[in-house]
Amino acid sequence: MKNDCLFCAIAAGEIPSNKVYEDELCYAFHDIAPQAPTHFLVIPKVHIASVSGINAENSAVVAHIFEVIAKVTKEMGIESYRVVSNIGEQAGQSVPHLHFHVLAGRDMTWPPG
Ligand code: 5GP
Ligand code: ZN
Repeated sequence: MKNDCLFCAIAAGEIPSNKVYEDELCYAFHDIAPQAPTHFLVIPKVHIASVSGINAENSAVVAHIFEVIAKVTKEMGIESYRVVSNIGEQAGQSVPHLHFHVLAGRDMTWPPG
Protein backbone atom coordinates (compact mmCIF):
# COMPACT_ATOMS: atom_id res chain seq x y z
CA MET A 1 0.00 0.00 0.00
CA LYS A 2 1.33 3.40 -1.01
CA ASN A 3 0.97 6.31 1.40
CA ASP A 4 -1.36 9.06 0.26
CA CYS A 5 -2.79 6.93 -2.57
CA LEU A 6 -6.58 7.30 -2.73
CA PHE A 7 -7.20 3.92 -4.38
CA CYS A 8 -4.80 2.05 -2.04
CA ALA A 9 -6.88 3.52 0.82
CA ILE A 10 -10.16 2.50 -0.86
CA ALA A 11 -8.87 -1.06 -1.49
CA ALA A 12 -7.83 -1.28 2.17
CA GLY A 13 -11.30 -0.15 3.30
CA GLU A 14 -9.88 3.01 4.90
CA ILE A 15 -12.00 5.20 2.65
CA PRO A 16 -15.58 4.03 2.08
CA SER A 17 -16.76 2.98 -1.36
CA ASN A 18 -19.68 1.16 -2.92
CA LYS A 19 -18.24 -2.33 -3.47
CA VAL A 20 -19.04 -4.40 -6.57
CA TYR A 21 -16.58 -7.26 -6.04
CA GLU A 22 -13.51 -8.12 -3.97
CA ASP A 23 -10.98 -10.93 -3.73
CA GLU A 24 -7.40 -11.24 -2.50
CA LEU A 25 -5.96 -9.58 -5.62
CA CYS A 26 -8.40 -6.92 -6.70
CA TYR A 27 -11.24 -4.63 -5.67
CA ALA A 28 -14.14 -3.29 -7.76
CA PHE A 29 -16.35 -0.35 -6.76
CA HIS A 30 -18.81 2.09 -8.28
CA ASP A 31 -17.33 5.31 -9.64
CA ILE A 32 -18.26 8.35 -7.53
CA ALA A 33 -19.06 10.34 -10.70
CA PRO A 34 -20.66 7.79 -13.06
CA GLN A 35 -20.36 8.51 -16.79
CA ALA A 36 -22.89 5.80 -17.76
CA PRO A 37 -25.81 4.02 -16.03
CA THR A 38 -23.27 1.36 -14.99
CA HIS A 39 -19.79 2.67 -14.21
CA PHE A 40 -17.46 0.86 -11.88
CA LEU A 41 -13.69 0.66 -11.45
CA VAL A 42 -11.54 -2.44 -11.00
CA ILE A 43 -8.18 -1.97 -9.28
CA PRO A 44 -5.34 -4.23 -8.17
CA LYS A 45 -4.83 -4.23 -4.39
CA VAL A 46 -1.11 -3.83 -5.01
CA HIS A 47 -0.08 -0.31 -5.98
CA ILE A 48 0.72 0.05 -9.69
CA ALA A 49 0.70 3.64 -10.99
CA SER A 50 -0.88 2.97 -14.40
CA VAL A 51 -0.66 0.63 -17.40
CA SER A 52 2.86 2.07 -17.79
CA GLY A 53 3.83 0.36 -14.52
CA ILE A 54 2.85 -3.16 -15.68
CA ASN A 55 5.78 -5.53 -16.09
CA ALA A 56 6.66 -9.24 -16.14
CA GLU A 57 6.64 -9.37 -12.32
CA ASN A 58 3.19 -7.86 -11.73
CA SER A 59 1.19 -8.53 -14.90
CA ALA A 60 -0.64 -11.62 -13.59
CA VAL A 61 -2.99 -9.37 -11.65
CA VAL A 62 -4.03 -7.67 -14.88
CA ALA A 63 -5.10 -10.99 -16.44
CA HIS A 64 -6.97 -11.70 -13.22
CA ILE A 65 -8.73 -8.33 -13.37
CA PHE A 66 -9.97 -9.09 -16.90
CA GLU A 67 -11.29 -12.47 -15.71
CA VAL A 68 -13.11 -10.62 -12.94
CA ILE A 69 -14.55 -8.10 -15.40
CA ALA A 70 -15.85 -10.95 -17.59
CA LYS A 71 -17.39 -12.73 -14.61
CA VAL A 72 -18.90 -9.72 -12.81
CA THR A 73 -20.46 -8.23 -15.94
CA LYS A 74 -22.03 -11.63 -16.78
CA GLU A 75 -23.44 -11.83 -13.26
CA MET A 76 -24.87 -8.30 -13.68
CA GLY A 77 -26.47 -9.33 -16.99
CA ILE A 78 -24.37 -6.83 -18.94
CA GLU A 79 -23.64 -8.03 -22.47
CA SER A 80 -22.11 -4.90 -23.99
CA TYR A 81 -19.70 -2.65 -22.21
CA ARG A 82 -16.51 -0.65 -22.57
CA VAL A 83 -13.28 -1.12 -20.58
CA VAL A 84 -11.06 1.95 -20.42
CA SER A 85 -7.80 2.80 -18.70
CA ASN A 86 -6.40 6.32 -18.94
CA ILE A 87 -2.64 6.64 -18.74
CA GLY A 88 -1.13 10.00 -17.88
CA GLU A 89 -2.48 13.52 -17.74
CA GLN A 90 -3.17 14.09 -21.44
CA ALA A 91 -5.30 10.94 -21.60
CA GLY A 92 -7.26 12.05 -18.56
CA GLN A 93 -5.81 9.97 -15.72
CA SER A 94 -6.67 11.72 -12.46
CA VAL A 95 -5.82 8.99 -9.92
CA PRO A 96 -2.30 7.52 -10.17
CA HIS A 97 -3.24 3.93 -9.21
CA LEU A 98 -4.00 1.50 -12.05
CA HIS A 99 -7.74 1.21 -12.66
CA PHE A 100 -9.99 -0.11 -15.38
CA HIS A 101 -13.27 1.71 -15.94
CA VAL A 102 -16.19 -0.56 -16.86
CA LEU A 103 -18.96 1.45 -18.54
CA ALA A 104 -22.32 0.16 -19.76
CA GLY A 105 -25.99 0.92 -20.18
CA ARG A 106 -25.95 3.54 -22.91
CA ASP A 107 -24.85 3.95 -26.52
CA MET A 108 -21.12 4.74 -26.77
CA THR A 109 -19.41 6.81 -29.42
CA TRP A 110 -16.18 6.08 -31.24
CA PRO A 111 -13.59 7.57 -31.30
CA PRO A 112 -13.70 8.50 -27.61
CA GLY A 113 -13.27 12.14 -26.68
P1 5GP B 1 -9.28 8.54 -14.16
O1 5GP B 1 -9.72 9.98 -14.26
O2 5GP B 1 -7.96 8.46 -13.41
O3 5GP B 1 -9.28 7.77 -15.42
O4 5GP B 1 -10.36 7.82 -13.26
C1 5GP B 1 -10.49 8.07 -11.89
C2 5GP B 1 -11.94 7.84 -11.54
O5 5GP B 1 -12.03 7.74 -10.14
C3 5GP B 1 -12.88 8.97 -11.96
O6 5GP B 1 -13.86 8.45 -12.83
C4 5GP B 1 -13.45 9.48 -10.65
O7 5GP B 1 -14.82 9.83 -10.74
C5 5GP B 1 -13.23 8.31 -9.72
N1 5GP B 1 -13.02 8.70 -8.33
C6 5GP B 1 -12.20 9.69 -7.86
N2 5GP B 1 -12.24 9.73 -6.53
C7 5GP B 1 -13.10 8.75 -6.13
C8 5GP B 1 -13.55 8.32 -4.85
O8 5GP B 1 -13.17 8.82 -3.80
N3 5GP B 1 -14.44 7.28 -4.83
C9 5GP B 1 -14.89 6.68 -5.98
N4 5GP B 1 -15.76 5.68 -5.84
N5 5GP B 1 -14.48 7.07 -7.19
C10 5GP B 1 -13.59 8.09 -7.28
ZN1 ZN C 1 -2.23 2.99 -4.80
